[in-house]
Amino acid sequence: MAYGAHRSPLLPPHPDLSLARDCELCLGWGTVVTRDGEHELCHACQPGPDDEDVTSRS
Ligand SMILES: [Zn+2]
Repeated sequence: MAYGAHRSPLLPPHPDLSLARDCELCLGWGTVVTRDGEHELCHACQPGPDDEDVTSRS
């Protein structure tokens, strides 16, 4: 069975807090909570989840 790149929406993303520090949208958290109650990266200050690659494991 292949264990491919697996996105886990249950885990909150890890934002770059240094980028989020001055952000008024997320108030420095780097993440925002959607209407569904899910955390996602603040699109105003964070590069975006699609730019992020899992580099620690293969
Ligand atoms: Zn932000």
